[in-house]
Amino acid sequence: MNYNVDERGYYGDFGGAFIPEMLYPNISELKKNYIKISNEPGFKKEFDSLLKEYVGRPTPLYYAKRLSNRYNCRIYLKREDLCHTGAHKVNNTIGQILLAKRLGKSRIIAETGAGQHGVATATVCALMGIKCVVYMGQLDIKRQAPNVARMKMLGAEVRSAESGSKTLKDATNEAIRDWINNPEDTHYIIGSVVGPHPYPDMVARFQSIISDETKWQLNKYEKRDYPDFLIACVGGGSNAAGLYYHYLNDERVKIIAVEAAGKGIDSGESAATSALGKEGIIHGSKTLLMQTSDGQITEPYSISAGLDYPGVGPMHAHLFRSGRAEFISISDQEAMDWGLTLSQLEGIIPAIETAHAFAILDLKKFKPSDVIVFNCSGRGDKDLSTYIDYFKL
Ligand SMILES: *Cc1c(COP(=O)(O)O)cnc(C)c1O
Repeated sequence: MNYNVDERGYYGDFGGAFIPEMLYPNISELKKNYIKISNEPGFKKEFDSLLKEYVGRPTPLYYAKRLSNRYNCRIYLKREDLCHTGAHKVNNTIGQILLAKRLGKSRIIAETGAGQHGVATATVCALMGIKCVVYMGQLDIKRQAPNVARMKMLGAEVRSAESGSKTLKDATNEAIRDWINNPEDTHYIIGSVVGPHPYPDMVARFQSIISDETKWQLNKYEKRDYPDFLIACVGGGSNAAGLYYHYLNDERVKIIAVEAAGKGIDSGESAATSALGKEGIIHGSKTLLMQTSDGQITEPYSISAGLDYPGVGPMHAHLFRSGRAEFISISDQEAMDWGLTLSQLEGIIPAIETAHAFAILDLKKFKPSDVIVFNCSGRGDKDLSTYIDYFKL
């Protein structure tokens, strides 16, 4: 079994490019060029240099002593929360803006739900002096005012998507419509390992810097370059794909993916795609998604905006179906409690998305010799008002 994408753009049964005909030229241009361009020495040099000097990489692999003592195993945190803009998302937007420049594009569009990917995109557009339009659901614009303000400060135009449920999927539809109308000058930066091929593989490759660094960092601390377990939260799946990437075909390493159960898998308010999803097509790729019996996409729910997505990327659908990864879902309440626990055990206030991953420590038993790497995908500053309301701080 191979867990990387194949030449047809599939991970096992999942993936592909189910797109309107009008987008064929854009998608073929990307497909033809994304590996070639990202392997050019000039590209690599600029990408590496920006990751180092601008994003602040390598991010530390931190041995969490108090957490390890409490759970009697060896726990490391890969500190993506220390990236510029506060999460892993910028690794991908830096890669894609460099690609867009080399494809001769002068305008960037993006979709955003909570605003994190919108901010990461607006950031790199400001860095490169490229025009940026971010589509966001009208409801999300209201709910995520600080990120809307950030994008505006960074010089991006935020356009309101007012159809349907006025959330992420509607913003994505608007972005796709824009791309169809502006195929020549515009590149669409997708924010996770979702969308038509080659996006899932392209985003996974840009995020794979996470496991690339993890290998040499583990070697330094543990005298072996692989852990026993890798654990990450999964919304669309980009931080997880980055952490797993160089270990996907290494069977010594067990992989755990953590989804948001919301108010409970059977509550009707959940985002646990592996438990609730069926095969279908969303945003141009065949994957697992939450849908009604007649195939309408179900509105997902999670207290964390970044995990509030009705599907998972095709790589993760394949990891689930093949049994390569174990999928566990964590409720709002368990995640929120872990936001507080990690803060007080390690002095690290995590994003609520990230807190979901740590909650598996109460569900799974580990051996004292087990080496475990958690992806600390983002910092909790953006979630402070949710923490304040929840804990009455
Ligand atoms: C966006 C986000 C996620 C979820 O997205 P993935 O593509 O699944 O990684 C997780 N954590 C943080 C901090 C985020 O901002």
